[in-house]
Amino acid sequence: MSRQVDPNTNPLESAINTISESTLRSLFKELCKKSPEARRLATERLLVDASQEGDEFEADGHEAKDRRVPQPKPAAATLKRPVSRYATCENCTKEFDVTANSSKSCVYHPKDAEPEGEELFVDNYGEFDVDTPELREEFPHCFTFWCCESTLESNPDGCVIDWHRAVSETKKKRSRF
Ligand SMILES: [Zn+2]
Ligand SMILES: [Zn+2]
Repeated sequence: MSRQVDPNTNPLESAINTISESTLRSLFKELCKKSPEARRLATERLLVDASQEGDEFEADGHEAKDRRVPQPKPAAATLKRPVSRYATCENCTKEFDVTANSSKSCVYHPKDAEPEGEELFVDNYGEFDVDTPELREEFPHCFTFWCCESTLESNPDGCVIDWHRAVSETKKKRSRF
């Protein structure tokens, strides 16, 4: 059986769209090693100087006050303390640009939603586990956030607005996900 090839798509582009993340990462690293131009572009897009990142990322978790949001500078070659431009937020779990982070960037619930609604338990009587992604989607009004008592239906996004906070590398490795 031969695979169907859409004449409208570029074969290289569709290969990039379908390869696994680990293959893509090793290919990307190889490209950066072999091509100075690729290395320069990747550095420009992915790294910023630590001075652009701001103090709220310091290890003690202390928040910097009166912080200006710095603009990314393209001068990758002159970075004194290069750090990743993109990080994953430990509160909202989204990826964010550290140079565009502000005190209003992140919306999250400090506590997770717990299954509580009676309807959920009645409709799923005999189920071993009612806290599943499928049931969260099907019964959003039956999952209550402990922090603010809103539900997955009434306020799925969050009750706290804050800076995005980068997950540290050590935490990322220990995480189950
Ligand atoms: Zn909340
Ligand atoms: Zn966040």
